[in-house]
Amino acid sequence: MLRSADCGSLKGENAGDQVTLAGWIGRRRDHGGIIFLDLRDRSGAVQVVFNPENAADATRIAEEVRGEWVVQVKGTVNKRPNGMENSSIPTGDIEVMVDEITVLNRSLTPPFYIEEDAEADESLRLRYRYLDLRRPPMLRNLTLRHNVVKYIRDFLSNRDFLEIETPILIKSTPEGARDFLVPSRMQPGNFYALPQSPQQMKQLLMVSGVERYFQIARCFRDEDLRADRQLEFTQLDLEMSFVEEDDILDLTEKLYTGMIESVTPEKILRKPFPRITYDEAMERYASDKPDLRFGLEMTDVSDLASETEFRVFLSTVEGGGQIKGFVVPGQAQFVTGQVKELEDTSKAAGAGGLAYIRYRGTNPVGQLTDEEILQSAGLRMPAEWHQRLADKMGAGPGDMILLMAGRQPRLNTWLSAMRTHVAELLELTDPDELAFAFVTRFPLFDWNEDAKRWDSTHHPFTSPEEGQESELDGEDLGAIKSKAYDLVCNGSELASGSIRIHNRQLQEKIFAILGHTKEETESQFGQILEAFEYGAPPHGGIAPGIDRLVAILCNSPSIRDVIAFPKTQSGTDLLFDAPTPVAQSQLDELYLETVKKPE
Ligand code: ASP
Repeated sequence: MLRSADCGSLKGENAGDQVTLAGWIGRRRDHGGIIFLDLRDRSGAVQVVFNPENAADATRIAEEVRGEWVVQVKGTVNKRPNGMENSSIPTGDIEVMVDEITVLNRSLTPPFYIEEDAEADESLRLRYRYLDLRRPPMLRNLTLRHNVVKYIRDFLSNRDFLEIETPILIKSTPEGARDFLVPSRMQPGNFYALPQSPQQMKQLLMVSGVERYFQIARCFRDEDLRADRQLEFTQLDLEMSFVEEDDILDLTEKLYTGMIESVTPEKILRKPFPRITYDEAMERYASDKPDLRFGLEMTDVSDLASETEFRVFLSTVEGGGQIKGFVVPGQAQFVTGQVKELEDTSKAAGAGGLAYIRYRGTNPVGQLTDEEILQSAGLRMPAEWHQRLADKMGAGPGDMILLMAGRQPRLNTWLSAMRTHVAELLELTDPDELAFAFVTRFPLFDWNEDAKRWDSTHHPFTSPEEGQESELDGEDLGAIKSKAYDLVCNGSELASGSIRIHNRQLQEKIFAILGHTKEETESQFGQILEAFEYGAPPHGGIAPGIDRLVAILCNSPSIRDVIAFPKTQSGTDLLFDAPTPVAQSQLDELYLETVKKPE
C-alpha cells in the first residue's frame, strides 16, 4: 500500500504515530514560511504541515503543489496547539508534521472547487463527473447507496431469496412505456428490446419453482424525461410464490424499516406504515401518493355548495362535478399576497378558480358577524351556512377554507397541487421525517380518453380483486379493483407491485379487454401464457425504485445526485457525449439506414 492510514481516520489518540498518507491536495495556507495543506482521501481530510526548519526539501515541494495534485506524505501525527483545534472536521484535534512528500501525479486546475459545499453549474458537474464525485457530499451519497443495496442483499438472502440475473436483451412487448430497441446483426431486420422491467421473467422464475427471487435490476424506458426521471434506472425487483398481498407488504415494511434504521438512523421514521386504499387516498388527499407528513385533508362539500348562488359551484355540481377543499388551520390572516399566490398555483395547475373563506376573530364561527367572515367574490352566505360548512370541514375561528370546483379526475389533480403548495408555504414538512404508506386496491383499468380504450392501471399481469373476475364481462370495467399496491413516501411513489394472474384464461381475457387481438396476444405473450399451463403457482411481487429512495435518504432534491453517471433531462450523457452518430460501417453491418428527421 502507498499509505499506512486514511486521512480522515486520524484522531487525538494517534498523536506520536508515524504515518504515510496519500491523497489529493485541497486548500493551502502559508504562514511565515510554514505551509499548511489539507490532504483529502475518501475518508476525509487532515491538515498536513511543512516547516522549512525541519523539512526543507519537503517544504520546497509543498510550495509547488497545487489543488488536486496527488501526493504521498510521510510524517508524525501531532496534537494541535491549544486553541488551534478545528471542531468542524473530525480530524481537527491533530495535524501531521511532514518529513517527506512525493508527488504521485499533477492536476490541471479543476473547473470548480472540490469542496464540501462548493456550488457549481450542474452541466459542468456532469461534464467533469469524475471531479464532481470527488466532492465529499457526492462520495457520501455513493456510500449511502452502497449501504442501502448491501442491506437489501443481506436482508433478502437471510430470508432464502435467490438473487438471479435476467437478460438485458429481450423481446419487445408492449408493457406501458416505449422500448429501447437493439438491432440484431445476426438476424438483420430483427430487434431486441431492453427490459422496461424483468416482469415476465420474474413470473417465469416462479413457474420454475424459485419461490423467492430478487435482483438489483436496471430498467430502461424510452420516455420523454418529465421532471426527475432517467432513461435507465435501478429497481429492487422481487417476486414470491404462495403469498398474499399482506405477505409482500409485511416483508417490504420490515425491509424498509430495518434498512432506514440501520443506514440513516438520524431520520424520523413513522411506524407502522399505514395501509390505505386507493379510494380513501383519493378522497382524503386527492392523490394516490399522498404526503402524510401533514394533514390538510379534503372534504367534499358539493351539497352545501349547491345552496349558494355562486354560478361556478352550481354549474359544476349540475354537470356532475364536485366542490371539494380543505381547511388551512390558523391561516385566516393569510395576506392578500399569499392568497394571490394560491390563486396563481390553482391557475398553473389548470384549475378554473379557487374560492376561499377566512374566519377571522375568535368567536365560534356561528357567532361571527358578516364582517368577520371574509369571503371570496360570489360566495356571500349567511353566518348559519358558514357554521354548517365549518362543522362539516372541521374549521374554526382563525382558519381559512380553500375550495375548488370541477370534475374528476382533474379536480383531484388541482387539489393535490394546492395541498402540496400550502404545505410548502406553511413549512409543514421536515425533510428528515419519513412518512411511508401503502396504497392498495388500485383500479384494475384506467380509461384512456385519447386512445378510447382501457389501459391497465398497473400492468396487464395484475390480478383483479377476489370475486370481481365475473365483472370483466360487464360494462363497468372502471369499477373493478385490483390486487395492486404502491409504497409511497413523502409524496413520492417508491414502489409498485401486485398479486399476479396465474391462469391462462383470465390472462387472455385481460389482454382482450386491453384491445390485443388473439394473434397479437399469442405472438407477444405466448411464452408466459403457455407457462401458466404448466402448473404456475400463485405469486406476487413488488419493485421498489432504488434511485428515488436513496435521494430521499440523502435529502437530495434530484436523483441525479445519487447516480454515479446520470443523464441530463434531454437524455444526454455530457461526460461521454452520448448519444452520437456511429460509423457508416457499423450501420452497414446491421443493415440499417438512418433518415433525416422531418422539420
Ligand atoms: N414490474 C413492475 C414495475 O416495474 C413492478 C411489479 O409489478 O413488480 O412497475
